[in-house]
Amino acid sequence: MPENLPPGVTLIQHPLVQIKLTQLRDVNTDSREFRARLNELSTLMVIESTRDLATRPVVIQTPLAPYEGRALARPVIVAPILRAGLGLVEGMLSLLPDVSVAHIGMFRNEETHRPESYYFKAPSHLADADVLLVDPMLATGWSATGAVSQLKAAGATSIRFVCLVSCPAGLAQLAAAHPDVHIYTSAIDPVLNERAYIVPGLGDAGDRYFGTV
Ligand code: URA
Repeated sequence: MPENLPPGVTLIQHPLVQIKLTQLRDVNTDSREFRARLNELSTLMVIESTRDLATRPVVIQTPLAPYEGRALARPVIVAPILRAGLGLVEGMLSLLPDVSVAHIGMFRNEETHRPESYYFKAPSHLADADVLLVDPMLATGWSATGAVSQLKAAGATSIRFVCLVSCPAGLAQLAAAHPDVHIYTSAIDPVLNERAYIVPGLGDAGDRYFGTV
């Protein structure tokens, strides 16, 4: 883990996050366990990445008296980058059950390692919402950069990027292209290999989640 974090990056070091991430990284963790841990991790990540969301007062009635409590000031949209990002959705929705889910389809050209877009669908209230763009891995950063560009082109004004494992190259790429996007990650691994996989990483997150290894 680097001692000095780049600006705009939050490293989530909660012990439960680190324990579950270690289980995810383990090559002996099968798909069933991988899914369960990823669900739990995404619930923990949503707590940390929404910590400073604005709230507004709402008056409700308890069984005994009126009470001024809080509600989210703006709608939230969870936007997974397909396919691996889908693995983070269920855990996030367990704490944010009323949010909309956008879908951003990107696949990685295995020769250029650059993303190619094949699908984009987002709700019409993008401009008024806080968007949680999610992908377990921030490797080269090109998919995240492209996804943010698509969201902005569709009207998004407030985007956070949530991942599990990142690396310096991916963080630098996304931060340079979109400095307004805050990045939440639970690990910053040292390097990318020649196939643009994060090392030590956890392998191909989509393959492990969907059992397509
Ligand atoms: N995507 C993955 O699933 N894993 C990596 O290490 C990099 C990109």
